[in-house]
Amino acid sequence: MAELRISAETRDLTRVERIGAHSHIRGLGLDSSLEARAVSEGMVGQTSARKAAGVILQMIKEGKIAGRAVLIAGQPGTGKTAIAMGMAMSLGLETPFAMVTGSELFSFEMSKTEALKQAFRKAIGVRIKEEAEVIEGEVVEVQIDRPAVTGVASKTGKLTLKTTEMETVYDMGAKMIEALNKGKVQSGDVISIDKASGKITKLGRSFTRSRDYDAMGPQTKFVQCPDGELQKRKEIIHSVTLHEIDVINSRTQGFLALFTGDTGEIRSEVRERVDEKVMEWRDEGKADIVPGVLFIDEVHMLDIECFSFLNRALENEMAPILVVATNRGITTIRGTDYKSPHGIPLDLLDRLLIITTQPYTEDEIRKIIDIRCQEEDVEVSEEARLLLSKIGAETSLRYAINLITSAALACQKRKGNVVELRDVNRVYMLFLDVKRSTQFLMEYQSQYMF
Ligand code: ATP
Repeated sequence: MAELRISAETRDLTRVERIGAHSHIRGLGLDSSLEARAVSEGMVGQTSARKAAGVILQMIKEGKIAGRAVLIAGQPGTGKTAIAMGMAMSLGLETPFAMVTGSELFSFEMSKTEALKQAFRKAIGVRIKEEAEVIEGEVVEVQIDRPAVTGVASKTGKLTLKTTEMETVYDMGAKMIEALNKGKVQSGDVISIDKASGKITKLGRSFTRSRDYDAMGPQTKFVQCPDGELQKRKEIIHSVTLHEIDVINSRTQGFLALFTGDTGEIRSEVRERVDEKVMEWRDEGKADIVPGVLFIDEVHMLDIECFSFLNRALENEMAPILVVATNRGITTIRGTDYKSPHGIPLDLLDRLLIITTQPYTEDEIRKIIDIRCQEEDVEVSEEARLLLSKIGAETSLRYAINLITSAALACQKRKGNVVELRDVNRVYMLFLDVKRSTQFLMEYQSQYMF
């Protein structure tokens, strides 16, 4: 393996569904003095926990949290995962966020420590800078604030013009997307748009070796030459995780495994070589290592072996910020006869900064339900939303959030446009919450097999 293989086009798809439930979370919703705003960035209430998470982020940014980790403890559905997501979002999209649940570790077709190792490496990003390349001879005329706008087309409908002095992004929206769809222009083409008529003229290809302008986006620079012409200089940055580099370079797997999630065990020699190479790139200034956030939910499900792995892994200089969560109190540490707070051994507990979450008020649940309705693009009547909040307060927030999607389907089925009380009622009767399900089991237990 003289050169490592890297690819920016691969992403772990297996987590998409789980994260979907938190798609409305865009940060921790804190102001500049780290105070939590009541409702902000998709976050509602839970102000002390959010503030504490913000302080931890500050410590992370100042490099003061090496070798330590964060524990978020609280009842089910009180936003522990939401806060971990908020932390990751505040660190920026470039910061990798990996998530694994304690019980999942025991169901993978690999040893639990291998699964943990992979989770750690999914949370460590590597930004690899590719050699800058100057393409000469392709000249683009700049026409700003004249009848036409010139720049590089992208799939999002945005036209970007970059010079050393400025960067201007014009949103050409529908017009550009229409031209792209009709195949008149391609993403990455240099085009000129007549402002008055909307006519699009293709001036050429901006990059001779272009893959996709979207992928290069902000790293692509146009350099203004003395004679007023533009040259293009490109500096591609690949953002990948250590895990992706491991899989791509593991002879037995191949990069397709990244899509199926079926990566199997990765040999330690592969990882050693990857680490060596990445360190070399870092020392040569070719790459930056970006420790991300690894979130382990249901941490009480880990056993003593996993905990000693975590203790060791935290010592590594590339270690991501470890955030663990649990809804358990004092319980047995798996694999031992000892009890401890949250089922976590004392030596690890000692390293943890602990944040607690509190149950929500009905008003807060109401606001979260409102945000979720908006996020899922479902129109819900005032009364139906009130009922959903009441259900959330009586049963669980997660159950109420799940009812939004199913009530929307019930509404669709009767060809309605707005989710009404009857739709919520209907799905409430169809799907039991934990309390009613338990009650049902108690009443009919004689009919079940044991
Ligand atoms: P568990 O202990 O069962 O894992 P949890 O404490 O991790 O639960 P979440 O999964 O974070 O709870 O919360 C349930 C749902 O409510 C999610 O969709 C989450 O995004 C949303 N949610 C929770 N708290 C908040 C909040 N403060 N603001 C906005 N949305 C929230």
